[in-house]
Amino acid sequence: MRKNEITNRVGENDNETLNLLTSTQIVIHDALTKLGLNRDAFELLKEPLRVLQVRIPVRMDDGSVKVFSGFRAQHNDSVGPTIGGIRFHPKVNEDEVKALAMWMSMKCGIADLPFGGGKGGIICNPRTLSFGELERLSRGYVRAISQIVGPTKDIPAPDMYTNSQIMAWMFDEYSRLRKFDSPGFITGKPLVLGGSEGREEAGALGAAICIKEAAKIKGIPLKGARVIVQGFGNAGSYIAKFMLQSGAIIVGISDVYGALYDPDGLNIEYLLSRRDSFGTVTTLFEGTITNEELLEQECDILVPAAVSNQISAKNAQNIKARIVVEAANGPTTIEGTRILSERGILLVPDVLAGSGGVTVSYFEWVQNTQGYYWDEKEVKEKLRKKMVKAFHQIYELSKISNVNLRTAAYMVGVRKMVEASEYRGWI
Ligand code: NAD
Repeated sequence: MRKNEITNRVGENDNETLNLLTSTQIVIHDALTKLGLNRDAFELLKEPLRVLQVRIPVRMDDGSVKVFSGFRAQHNDSVGPTIGGIRFHPKVNEDEVKALAMWMSMKCGIADLPFGGGKGGIICNPRTLSFGELERLSRGYVRAISQIVGPTKDIPAPDMYTNSQIMAWMFDEYSRLRKFDSPGFITGKPLVLGGSEGREEAGALGAAICIKEAAKIKGIPLKGARVIVQGFGNAGSYIAKFMLQSGAIIVGISDVYGALYDPDGLNIEYLLSRRDSFGTVTTLFEGTITNEELLEQECDILVPAAVSNQISAKNAQNIKARIVVEAANGPTTIEGTRILSERGILLVPDVLAGSGGVTVSYFEWVQNTQGYYWDEKEVKEKLRKKMVKAFHQIYELSKISNVNLRTAAYMVGVRKMVEASEYRGWI
């Protein structure tokens, strides 16, 4: 696709309803142009190299058979095997999985991992499935994609609505198929099956490290900084905890039903103790505000950690934070990014802030491969080093190239893949 074809699509859609794949292609195109790379690189990187669609028959508890649809996308394996999560969601679709695989490639490039990006998904509502049905679906998916995955081909991991139990079933199914134990096939496993210390909170810790570095740049002491976190699930609650440990005041949090805001600070420990397993807590309180209102409240640091498309042309002018760190995937649209950047708000993009999860997945794979396991302190210190290095590399590049941090992050993200593809003679 040529640049003008892409921008025409942007114009048609007024930037705001672009699907994730199109907006990812636009940023990749901008990054490649800034790097002075030719059209072949864009042709190669604009879509995954492989996308497998599968149908998975599952025997349900009532004896009937239900056939689920699933996908596995492998964006680019020029640098090394692909890696990336599997999500179980009723709305997951092929374009989304493709875009997510491309984001994983960016994260791998940014964290300087010897991998490319992959992603998988199954269209299902895990909340309506029994434990047994979930297990049979997870095992069926592994059988369906087994030809294209493996520890030196493509390494899955947890994502939305998948967890260490599901990784354990998938690991077991793969090991049965291959007839030997193969822990390096999948990451995010329980510790006893070769999981890594620190994997569960790795994504949030990576985002928290970015918040610290961004605050230093903006001259905001974390002690006493006012922080709003949108979303109080796995990512949001860990980030709130890490910020609290740094002396920040959490003035706002939210879940899908609404938001709590108190300029004097919320009692996070109490809210954590009342939160349910879906990250819901606001329903217990009166005087809540909406998620839209929360994003526009006074604060120093805003952390969207829930869903995509939260900051757009509609509200970017009203954001009061001086720093926005995207812990969620895709919370700011292209137009929202432009407005925040023009207003001098430091926006740390998802592909950088969210690269902690895949980095510790890589650590897990390394530990599985060498059969030697690190303690939590070692994992966290290795993660901190990688995140700090990536943050400053991208920040400096954004200054030198006069682009926002998202474009700079994509420039770093694509570089190794393009070089490896050139050496291989693909472009
Ligand atoms: P989760 O399901 O544990 O929690 C999601 C939270 O967002 C819940 O509190 C839920 O009520 C809330 N929410 C759902 N829909 C919402 C809406 N429309 N408006 C406002 N709030 C809404 O999910 P999670 O694992 O915390 O992941 C959240 C996001 O963060 C996803 O984009 C995920 O990919 C990303 N993620 C980031 C990290 C990281 O730290 N960088 C780690 C894991 C996941």
